[in-house]
Amino acid sequence: MDDNTLLRHSGHILLPEMGIVGVQRLTTARVLVIGLGGLGSVVAVYLARSGIGELSLADHDVVSLSNLPRQILYKEDSVGLFKTHVAEEMLRGVGSGAIRLVSERLAGARLREEVARADLVCDASDNFATRFAVNEACVMHGRPLVSAAVIRLVGQILVVDPAQADAGCYRCLYPETDDTNEACSESGILAPVAGVLGTLQATEAIKVIAGICAPLTRELLLFDAQDMSSHKIRRHRDPLCPVCAKRPS
Ligand SMILES: [Zn+2]
Repeated sequence: MDDNTLLRHSGHILLPEMGIVGVQRLTTARVLVIGLGGLGSVVAVYLARSGIGELSLADHDVVSLSNLPRQILYKEDSVGLFKTHVAEEMLRGVGSGAIRLVSERLAGARLREEVARADLVCDASDNFATRFAVNEACVMHGRPLVSAAVIRLVGQILVVDPAQADAGCYRCLYPETDDTNEACSESGILAPVAGVLGTLQATEAIKVIAGICAPLTRELLLFDAQDMSSHKIRRHRDPLCPVCAKRPS
């Protein structure tokens, strides 16, 4: 690690939990962020600034005016442009790692390919169909997943760690097939709540990559901005989970 890198990341290096070893893990890691909305904007900023070696940013969408209150990478000039392109412009020079763009809607084989390439995946998408597909690809390839979601004034976050399979996966939380696609465009969202959860998501990603502290690998954290409460629920594998459990024959 050269002098500039040591200086740049001295704040992290000074943490007894992190040290040089933890920072080296960050600077050699490949992370995939799926979705560059309210969550992904914040996740991408902190992961880039924390020196992630290769940050892949996936989003097929263009910026719209209604994105601006919470999607902090963009401004009025960005409307109509690909979110990935604007994000790259905004993130250039803030970190020491590489930024890689995936300007397509990831699904099927392409999703699995991108997940397999990454050491860790952050799901910052805004719909159940994508979250289920990302979870399934992560379980299939044994990649840790940090999944977060926000709606109205509440948010949730969890970590699915292949090393702790008995804690289950994202799909275990939704035993019934739930196709209700409640997007914030329909239900509303308090802008900074996306920032709160995005910051928590970047924090958990860094903890998992650096191998420090206690990530939410066995719990679901729920945050409610109405009364600023948060609580954690213990998670267990659903023995009938179609993704991570062996189904009875
Ligand atoms: Zn499961």
